[in-house]
Amino acid sequence: MPFYEFRCQDCGHQFTKNVSWLKKHTLTCPKCDSRKLQEVFGLNYLGSKDSGSSGAAGGGGGGCSPFG
Ligand SMILES: [Zn+2]
Repeated sequence: MPFYEFRCQDCGHQFTKNVSWLKKHTLTCPKCDSRKLQEVFGLNYLGSKDSGSSGAAGGGGGGCSPFG
């Protein structure tokens, strides 16, 4: 199913929606109901320069259980 990612230019809310190409322009922001939506291409555009493993990584041990 084609999922598209949109970003509201008014409130900055980002959301995904599975909508057909012809109906994309009818979408509105679920938060502020704005129609100034910008389609976001490439979810991994925030490419970080992580090369290999790096030290100095502090990890706080907590008691996280998969079951709440
Ligand atoms: Zn909005």
